[in-house]
Amino acid sequence: MTLPNLLDLSPDEISALCVSLGEKPYRGKQIAAWLFRRGAGSFGEMSDIPKSTREKLAAITGIRQLEVLETAGDDEADKILWKLGDGCSVESVLIREKDHFTLCLSSQVGCALGCRFCRTGTLGFKRNLSVGEILGQIIGAKKLLGPSEELSNLVFMGMGEPLLNRENVVKSLKVITDSDYLAIGKRHISLSTVGIVPEIPRLALGPEVGLTISLSAPDDSLRNEIMPINKTYPLAELKQALLNWPLNRGRRITIAYVLLKGVNDQPEKAVALSRFLTGLKVKINLIPFNPWPGSPYQAPTFEAVNKFRDALVNKNHTVIVRWSKGGKVSAACGQLAGEKLLK
Ligand code: SF4
Repeated sequence: MTLPNLLDLSPDEISALCVSLGEKPYRGKQIAAWLFRRGAGSFGEMSDIPKSTREKLAAITGIRQLEVLETAGDDEADKILWKLGDGCSVESVLIREKDHFTLCLSSQVGCALGCRFCRTGTLGFKRNLSVGEILGQIIGAKKLLGPSEELSNLVFMGMGEPLLNRENVVKSLKVITDSDYLAIGKRHISLSTVGIVPEIPRLALGPEVGLTISLSAPDDSLRNEIMPINKTYPLAELKQALLNWPLNRGRRITIAYVLLKGVNDQPEKAVALSRFLTGLKVKINLIPFNPWPGSPYQAPTFEAVNKFRDALVNKNHTVIVRWSKGGKVSAACGQLAGEKLLK
């Protein structure tokens, strides 16, 4: 019989478990700090916890971290393939920035939504990741860094749609942002969604994070074609949800727009995008498409990217062109779902 994974429990649940075993509640906090802050992979490492407590816990729970199956890197990013307890696999990408690292996290094994520019979408959906599997990517990635290297930023932009696994994502965000545990600042965390409209206000009730909307089309007919979820949650409904999203001072929603050659990269699409965004506080990330084997689209030309950006800048938008890192190892945006994934 497989014992429940302690990493799936919140610090409060670990405390309650300790109390049920006749221990003081503070033991739960100590154990949670060992698991989440210090990355302990066994009860034996918990040197300040009495042996009897560890034995009682070990009789009813386990600690199952993720196993690194493979890493592939270039000078910009490392793609990490993780093996999960049931034999499934997911990927994360550790992105090298100037003075820190950003981890791009997965939230599901595969994805049901089938955005046509995304390789993960070709896999289909297998299952949601548990809290321990979401946190396990961070705990495991930190172990791959050197002593002077810092993982300080997180983006939920890997495999899967995080709002279709909102409960586990929000539960993990509480540990991620808690200064006693992973202590990653809320301004350093961004969650990217295609726009699961009913889940957006529910996400707003959890820890504050940056919201990124993967938009990639300025009108329903084009978005229906490249992102089928738009047929369920069309742009007008999505816009209303975004108008209601609580923005703290200085914050803006990020709009991600994958540029596909000849499909959505014409300047008139930029003008239509600007029109759609009227009334929203946004910044726009333009992501030139990263082709993958069998992808139905091509990368836009430099000229098209620049013209699209200029058309938005002319409408007074803040625009950043994000040339994805990790393209050499298929770790760039939209490329996750390698050859060895799933069971
Ligand atoms: Fe799923 Fe996101 Fe890929 Fe769309 S872009 S198929 S939601 S992983």
